[in-house]
Amino acid sequence: MVADLVVAIFALGLLGLALRRAGSAYLVFRGTRVITCPGTGQHAAVDLAAGRAALTAVFRAPTPGLRDCSRWTGQTDCNRECLTQIRASPEEGLVRRILTKWYGGKSCVSCGRPLAEIHWTRRKPCLMSPGLRILEWKDIPPETIPRVLETHGPVCWNCFVAETRTW
Ligand SMILES: [Zn+2]
Repeated sequence: MVADLVVAIFALGLLGLALRRAGSAYLVFRGTRVITCPGTGQHAAVDLAAGRAALTAVFRAPTPGLRDCSRWTGQTDCNRECLTQIRASPEEGLVRRILTKWYGGKSCVSCGRPLAEIHWTRRKPCLMSPGLRILEWKDIPPETIPRVLETHGPVCWNCFVAETRTW
């Protein structure tokens, strides 16, 4: 009876550990990343197989595969060299991280208010093109983000709503 209880507690402990490792790997490797393709030297947007990384993380160091790449539209495959740089620093290149860093300390080019706190679920900040068009991030292909950030300005959610609202 006591032995059964010890085994059950041990099994639950192992299960908890496995779930924690899987969950942690999933959180690290999910999300679109912008990387510099080692094959072409140009920016590309990649998505990893975060679910597979979570499964492999249960038994060993997580090994995320490449699920999608913006460069695969013209060519169907590549040698996935970028995975080496992504595994070395998984946080680097995450789109949300790049944008949060870019907005940091900036003010809205329309109303001048500081973009102090960024809300990515609601009230997402937007951007203004050199042609003074307000754009949402969903309209920007991720692989073009590094180039877009050099030419566009930050716009707050309030200005986006005021500009696009139709009465
Ligand atoms: Zn504004």
